This record gives sequence, structure tokens and C-alpha cells, in this order.
Amino acid sequence: MDSVVTELGRLVGEKHVLVGDAIGPEYTHDESLTVAAVSPRAVVRPASTDEVSKVLVFANARRIPIIARGAGTGLSGGATPVADGIVLSLERMHRILEIDEENQIAVCEPFVRLSELYAAAEDKGLMYAIMPGESSATVGGNVGTNAGGMQAVKYGVTRHHVLGLHAVLADGRVIRTGGKFVKVSSGYDLTQLLVGSEGTLAVITQVIVKLVPRLPNRTTVLAPFITLEEVTSAIPKLVATGLGPLMLEYIDMMTMATILQRSKMDLGIDPKLREKALAYLLMVVEGRDAERVEADAAQLGEKAIELGAMDVYMLPATAARQLIEAREQSFWAAKSAGAGDVVDVVVPRASIAKFVAAATQVAANHQALVVGCGHAGDGNVHLAVFHGDTAVRDDVTKGLLRAGVELGGAVSGEHGIGVAKKAYFAALEDPVKLELQRSIKRAFDPNNILNPGNIFD
Ligand SMILES: Cc1cc2nc3c(=O)[nH]c(=O)nc-3n(C[C@H](O)[C@H](O)[C@H](O)COP(=O)(O)OP(=O)(O)OC[C@H]3O[C@@H](n4cnc5c(N)ncnc54)[C@H](O)[C@@H]3O)c2cc1C
Repeated sequence: MDSVVTELGRLVGEKHVLVGDAIGPEYTHDESLTVAAVSPRAVVRPASTDEVSKVLVFANARRIPIIARGAGTGLSGGATPVADGIVLSLERMHRILEIDEENQIAVCEPFVRLSELYAAAEDKGLMYAIMPGESSATVGGNVGTNAGGMQAVKYGVTRHHVLGLHAVLADGRVIRTGGKFVKVSSGYDLTQLLVGSEGTLAVITQVIVKLVPRLPNRTTVLAPFITLEEVTSAIPKLVATGLGPLMLEYIDMMTMATILQRSKMDLGIDPKLREKALAYLLMVVEGRDAERVEADAAQLGEKAIELGAMDVYMLPATAARQLIEAREQSFWAAKSAGAGDVVDVVVPRASIAKFVAAATQVAANHQALVVGCGHAGDGNVHLAVFHGDTAVRDDVTKGLLRAGVELGGAVSGEHGIGVAKKAYFAALEDPVKLELQRSIKRAFDPNNILNPGNIFD
């Protein structure tokens, strides 16, 4: 028996160390479309910060790579194992430790799934505002990738909600950052440095997040447009109304057709308009007062018409919920249609129209199909890339990311760099900033055991 496995069994309990055939396929990959599955040397399932610490002391002394793993719903290959490494699955650390109503705060172990946190917060009249498309994802994974999602246009992304962390460093030392307070000005902000570090700096074992009061009323408006350009140009003007939409999403015609077909939904859109519409805008308004919400939604609708929408539809609650769920699942629709890659470029909101035009040109230059949707209010565009030839597809991805960066954007708005996007990141990021990031990595993890090969080589 592998002596490493024996020792790990001593640290966390034999039955919590999986090797060989006991390692299920779910541990070998995440949901990235371009990163191949890898079987690790072992999967280890610690139950506490103390056990995580002991595993890291052991792995660090032997230079064994450690891949932290949440639910594996990531889209950048970040939780993909390395062959001689250990997957550190946080699945036994799944408790919500506290919902503090007075401070409007939740304290969670890392493997609390979003769906569980949503339900626990709702019970207290509160809401956890981060809503990436996959609610089986974990809070720890969200911290790993700085997840965003559809509500970011109003509430921001994960880092705006994380107030404190418990984290285990590569050498096993435990740090506690931040706390149950909403502001801090005491030295470097290590909480924020760890958010989005994709498991490369420390293993997160506890997360303190902000909750917000749950607002009881929502209205959803769907607006078909003749051109995608009109939709993307409308975004900054809709934000500028000050009506503060909860969601502001664009969906192109192909994506809309696929998600409607998959979900067998009929939104009641006039067939003549449906034939002409090349893009849709989905807007959601929330608030305390039902009449006010309706009035705000109507104003957004009027503004959308002024900006070129052919019509606006106030969706009934059930249809709205179904459409939002179907939009969340658009990744699966793209995957089942044969997409080879998905990019999540972010650009300044006012540059989305230029970015979409550039993306259309990149696709035409390579005779590739590029379709998508996006958190348009945030300037975050999700594009699925279709081309049978991997090398050409890679050029298309590169072209799309370059176009985004040239418009003042970034390679990834919310999925992270992971393994999947690191070559593009290395090519497009400022080398000075890259070197500074490598120095930070060396300071936290001098032996490079934590997610080696993630973000950069
Ligand atoms: C259908 C679908 C829709 C999606 N929609 C969105 C969206 O709208 N917005 C969005 O932002 N994302 C979206 N995602 C991506 C994904 O859900 C997020 O990236 C999520 O944050 C991953 O959480 P996870 O628990 O699955 O993490 P994993 O995939 O397991 O891990 C993600 C990264 O975090 C690291 N990590 C995990 N746990 C820890 C820990 N405890 N300590 C340190 N590092 C850790 C991992 O090593 C890895 O690098 C979507 C994914 C799918 C499949």
C-alpha cells in the first residue's frame, strides 16, 4: 500500500481516503469544455480545519500537489486533478454554522451549496445575493472563482459579499481574515486577495458572507430587438435610468431558440416578432412595494422601446422563473449543441456593442459559429465557440479574448483562469502584473503545492 495513502488515512480516517477504483469519475474533472479529466493519486475528505491543516503539513513536507475541490461545477478546469496529486474534497465540511439575523451575516463551512444557503437565508427573510447559474456550486468554490452571476448588476460579485475567511496556508498554518464587520482598514486586505485565488494561495475552510433583506416583489420584462447591436447599445442607457435592475441579460437569437426548445417553453411572443428578433433583453426589477416595482418595470420597458425594442412583454411569474432557469442552463444547451469552448470576457459596459461586433468579425474570419448571451449589465459576455477543428477554435477563442482585452476588458469576468484560460492569460496580461502575481504565489506557497498549474505555470 502507498505509504502516502496510509498516512493520509491516519490523518482523516481511512474511509475518507479514496484511491484507485474507489475514485468516482466526478472527482476527475470540472465542467470545463477544454480540460481533459485526470485521475489523481488519491482523494482526501477532511472534516475540519484542523484536518485540512494536518493534510497540508504532510503534503508540503513531501511536495505533493493539493487540488482543493468544491462541487466541481467550475468552467475553467480549476478543480481538475494532477496525476501525482491529491484532490482535497471539502464535501464533509458542509454546515451552515450561523445565520446571524442582527448583523445580516451567514457563517459557512466551504462545502455549503448555494441552494442550501439560499433556503436558510430565506427562512429568516434574508437573501444571499450571489446567483451564478449553478446553485449546486459551493460557497468555497464561489470564493475560489469570485463567482458572479445574474444578480451582479445590482449586488456585485462574491468578493463584495465576503467579509471574512478561515484559510489554511500551504504549510498548514491557519489564518483568520476579516470578520463579522462590513469595513476594515487594517493592513493589506487578505480576504480580498484570497477571493478569486482559485485554490492557489490557501484552502478556505470557513466563509463569512453578507446577507441582504429579501425584497418580496419582482417583475420581469422581456424585449425582442431586431439586431444584437441595438440590444448591446441599449445597456448603458438602461443602467443610466437609475431604476437599478436586479438582472439585465442579453440572449442572442440562437441561444434563445435553443433554451426555449430545451425547456419546451412558450413565452407568448408574437411569431412575427420572433421571426425578426435577432436578440432579446431580459430585465428584472425587484422591490418592497409591488406597485412601485410594476411602475419601474414599465419605465424600463418604455425606455427599451425608445432604444429600439420591437415590443416588451411583462412575463407572468412562472414564465419568468422558467426563463431565468433556462437562461442559467444555457451552458448545458451550448454543450449539448456541440460547443467546443465557452469564453466569459468582460469589457466596460459601454463597450459591449463594440465587443460583440468584433466577436462577429473574429467568427467570420475563421468561418466559426460564435453565439451567446451575457450578464450585459456587467459587460460580461458568454460566448460559445463552435468549430470542428481544435486549432482553429483555439484561434477563435484567442481572437475573442484579445478583442475584449483591447477594449479595456479582461480574459475572464467570473469563471476564472484555471487551466483552461492560462495560456491566453499569459499572452494577454501585463507581464509586470503577472510577475507580481507569481511573487504573491511564491510568498504564500513557496513549494508550489496548491493547485500547481492553475492561473499560471
Ligand atoms: C450551468 C453552469 C452555469 C454557471 N453559471 C455561472 C455564472 O453565471 N457565474 C459564475 O460566476 N459562474 C458560473 N458557473 C461556474 C461555477 O458554478 C462557478 O465557478 C462556481 O464558483 C464553482 O463552484 P464549485 O463549488 O463547483 O467549485 P469547483 O469547481 O469545485 O472549484 C472552483 C475553483 O475553486 C477552488 N476551490 C474550491 N473550493 C475551494 C476551497 N474550499 N478553498 C480554496 N479553493 C477552492 C478550486 O480549486 C477551483 O480552482 C456556472 C457553471 C455551470 C456548470
